[in-house]
Amino acid sequence: MANIAGRKRNDALTRLLADRTNLTPSMFKEIAKKYFKNCCAYCNDDQKPLTKEHVVTNKDFGTLEPNNVIPCCRECNDDKRERDWREYAKEKGSRFIKQIEARILGYKPLDLEELRNRPDPYIKVSD
Ligand SMILES: [Zn+2]
Repeated sequence: MANIAGRKRNDALTRLLADRTNLTPSMFKEIAKKYFKNCCAYCNDDQKPLTKEHVVTNKDFGTLEPNNVIPCCRECNDDKRERDWREYAKEKGSRFIKQIEARILGYKPLDLEELRNRPDPYIKVSD
């Protein structure tokens, strides 16, 4: 019984995250081209395949929303890990610091407290 409730809660959280994570592959391509000239936002390389990088990290409950995503090569993505983007961008000599700032302007990471207190439509409260 507890397992079923737990699974349902996970489904609900997955749906909430999916609602906020509305980044399509074409949107990501557009962001990479328009704001970053198809370069890695950190090392400036324009030859490597680009991955999606969370500016506000997973650790800080950042999601893959358009305003929290920048293009980044695999090496930088693996190397940066959960470090603050400003620190890493400086270390790599990024020429895209203003562009990264502009992307995340107004971005709000998930508020876990708010999520916890939100009525969960997927869990039936038994009487
Ligand atoms: Zn890079």
